[in-house]
Amino acid sequence: MIYFQSLTKEELAELLRPVSLPKARRRYVPEGAAASAEEAGPSTEDLLKAERRARYRAQQIFHWVYQRFVTNWDEMSDLSKDLRVWLKENVEIYRVTERASQQAVDGTHKFLWNLADGKTVESVIIPAALQEKENPEQDFDQQRFSGAAIEDKDLKSERWSRLTACISSQVGCAMGCKFCLTGIQGLDRQLQAHEIVGQVFELRRLAPITNIVFMGMGEPLHNFENVVKACKILLDPDGLNFSKRKVTVSTSGLVPAIEELGRQADVSLAISLNASTDEQRSQIMPVNRKWNLDALMSACRSYPLGSHRRITFEYVLLKDFNDSLEDAARVLRLLRGIPSKLNLIPFNEHSGSEFKRPSDETVKKFQRYFVDRNITATVRISRGRDILAACGQLRSIFGTARGTERHRDWKSNSGAGGGTAF
Ligand code: SAH
Ligand code: SF4
Repeated sequence: MIYFQSLTKEELAELLRPVSLPKARRRYVPEGAAASAEEAGPSTEDLLKAERRARYRAQQIFHWVYQRFVTNWDEMSDLSKDLRVWLKENVEIYRVTERASQQAVDGTHKFLWNLADGKTVESVIIPAALQEKENPEQDFDQQRFSGAAIEDKDLKSERWSRLTACISSQVGCAMGCKFCLTGIQGLDRQLQAHEIVGQVFELRRLAPITNIVFMGMGEPLHNFENVVKACKILLDPDGLNFSKRKVTVSTSGLVPAIEELGRQADVSLAISLNASTDEQRSQIMPVNRKWNLDALMSACRSYPLGSHRRITFEYVLLKDFNDSLEDAARVLRLLRGIPSKLNLIPFNEHSGSEFKRPSDETVKKFQRYFVDRNITATVRISRGRDILAACGQLRSIFGTARGTERHRDWKSNSGAGGGTAF
């Protein structure tokens, strides 16, 4: 069986080519053995016809699944019976199943999905209320309280200007960032393209998702092929039909893969900067020892951006570590010449890390430094703090993560990975 969501439209068309030949020509007849035109192999004309037909069928099937969310081949009424039978026997529409979900007072909805082999990954839907869109740089306090308790939490409600789906690209992560719960757990395995697309597919069935960010578990550029393929399906106008500005891949800084991403996929880029000097960054992000800030910023400068696109720089604010105004000044210097926006994330505390979250006052001052210098700087309020919304946290509480405090004896050292990549 092939998983449907692991195929781009072009790959599906390729797969459908043999079954799109006129029936009488499908049989293979060895050369010289043909007794009549009927028994001869397909003519060039037949092959061309089959190719056109296969392409058309792939488009029809993409519409049924990704735009009408039909998951039963029998319901695809404009496909021939033959084709439906063939699809039933050969292609499976993949579904992740919900293991747990939680919704926070601000509407943030977090999901823990079961994969076919019993592993789990997380996705989160983060709604933005209309007033946030009108004024994304509104005062931090205001943002915080406006999002505090919302009565209408329905994700289909008109009150949301944006519904961002934050999805995972790996089970765990090999990058070993010191502040990150997923990083502490190590890499378990890569997600296949159908498991990445499968998360969006399930969320999109539930709510009119407008944006996708690869900011859940895992380092997307460490699972390059599957992420690029998933992006192609997300962007395909016959597929999930997201615009390239609304799909963002976030990376800790795998420089050669950033360059390759620019060549292979037309998506937006986010960089987890998180520090203002090499020394500081190498302490919390081992990847910086391999590709330092110089290499990273020069890859950002060469990333192909359209005329109105900017690179998002994420900056986790860690108390007394990277939250001073000297840090802010150094970050400003690093960003010089790059069309950018800064996304400040006050550290989400968890038991796996000693780091603390800075005071609201410090966060505000840090933000103000940039706003005063005409740099877009938003503070990502820890949305859904009441539902453990930080990366990796829902998974750890259900005991499906390896190497956590609670489950050290349970399933220790099984599976691949577990260490850090650097
Ligand atoms: N691996 C990718 C994408 C997933 S992490 C990357 O690192 O970019 C998504 C974001 O969450 C990153 O910017 C990371 O720095 C941030 N993050 C991880 N743990 C966090 C925590 N405990 N509190 C706040 N932000 C965190
Ligand atoms: Fe991996 Fe990103 Fe966490 Fe670093 S911050 S460990 S790259 S998920």
